Amino acid sequence: MTAQAKPSKLIKGATGDWEIVVGMEIHAQVTSKSKLFSGASTEFGGEQNDHVSLIDAGMPGMLPVINEECVKQAVRAGLGLKAQINRRSVFDRKNYFYPDLPQGYQISQYKSPIVGEGEVIVDVSPTEQIRVGIERLHLEQDAGKLLHDQSPDSSFVDLNRSGVALMEIVSKPDIRSAEEARAYVTKLRAILRYIGACDGNMEQGSLRADVNVSVRRPGEPLGTRCEIKNMNSIRFIGHAIDVEARRQIGILEDGGTIDQETRLYDPGRGETRAMRSKEEAHDYRYFPDPDLLPLEFDQAFVDALAADLPELPDAKRARFISEYGLPPYDAGVLVGERETADFYEACVRAGGKARDAKVVANWVMGDFAALANAAGLGVAETHVPPSRIASLVDLIGEGVISGKIAKDVLALMFSEERDADPRDIVERRGLKQVTDTGAIEAAVDQIIAANPDKVEQAKAKPTMLGWFVGQVMKATGGKANPQAVNELLKAKLGV
Ligand code: MN
Repeated sequence: MTAQAKPSKLIKGATGDWEIVVGMEIHAQVTSKSKLFSGASTEFGGEQNDHVSLIDAGMPGMLPVINEECVKQAVRAGLGLKAQINRRSVFDRKNYFYPDLPQGYQISQYKSPIVGEGEVIVDVSPTEQIRVGIERLHLEQDAGKLLHDQSPDSSFVDLNRSGVALMEIVSKPDIRSAEEARAYVTKLRAILRYIGACDGNMEQGSLRADVNVSVRRPGEPLGTRCEIKNMNSIRFIGHAIDVEARRQIGILEDGGTIDQETRLYDPGRGETRAMRSKEEAHDYRYFPDPDLLPLEFDQAFVDALAADLPELPDAKRARFISEYGLPPYDAGVLVGERETADFYEACVRAGGKARDAKVVANWVMGDFAALANAAGLGVAETHVPPSRIASLVDLIGEGVISGKIAKDVLALMFSEERDADPRDIVERRGLKQVTDTGAIEAAVDQIIAANPDKVEQAKAKPTMLGWFVGQVMKATGGKANPQAVNELLKAKLGV
């Protein structure tokens, strides 16, 4: 039995509440230099049909040879999904005709996949996690690509992708909303990227999802599902689920029935439309590929791969909370990308110092991430090394600059001062905070003398103090120690 959605996730129809049920099949391209059964390159781009061996072109009499690296990647991914690893699996032929499939069949795994049941813990929000069951993960070949835009009267085929290894990862129908679906793909993608089993590049098609959507009244059995094919954007996956659920609810509330079919999402029109009626497994006449022996390995092979796995997002998030005392939200954001998490830790520990981990998190996730993002980069991809963020945080901690000046210094590190350490920038540009009360006092006296009317107002209404603080900060070029300014003003205005 599948879990029931919380009342807050139900959608309101004209005749009552409905529950969305989603399961996904994700095709993730295996990170490997060569293809699943041939030595041809898997490199993206390149001239059409440049990376095609006789096997990938489906020439008669060629024998596929399994690529051990792809097997290792599938096992590593399976371990990351806390899944059953099947030490014996079988490659089958999935027979169908399409011009981008010269073999006339896809080599896939049907009854005996390399990876069985597992799970993904999905972070839907900082305070909500759900468990999505994994049904299986199997290895299979990708197909080629038809090119319809090269000639007015014919189509061409590019076989560069033909035979590239894919992991098809099938979830159980445990997802109950578009939001959960987006979070599931985000988490699965993060796990695969941490492991290095798939680069997760959705624009290049390295990770694409077929989304099965159905609706039902709460507590009723599963409804008839429709499969939305080939989604390669997390945002669009969310949209597609919402519009497809609405479409199905409309039909059911009008007394109709849902046809099980494959549909396409059109982001321009914000709708899904029928592509073909759903084919069943028997339409493909699966049978074990006679050219390939069953795939077998021993437990030592699995154990060696397990020993080599990196720390995965869930473990890292838990460690960031316990080791650095970070709030779950911060920890969750920082571990989203392995490179970001590594960058953050390097900032905390740079130079062997113990920094306030929360303050560092604020800078890495806040102003620094915003500047990196504006440059179209992740935090670990900019020219700024962790030691410089550490330096900036230290300057604030030592009282050399205020947080406000630190923002300016950081902006300079992305413009005129790309090659300088914050300490040098502050020194050279004279940005040190003024803590000399004499200098601050002079500025305070001047502002008070010039604004007698405001002084009267402030005495009646102490919140006016903020205006004075602003004036003094302005007069000192933002360099006055804000605490000292506040204290002096309070004393002099008698508020
Ligand atoms: Mn598939």
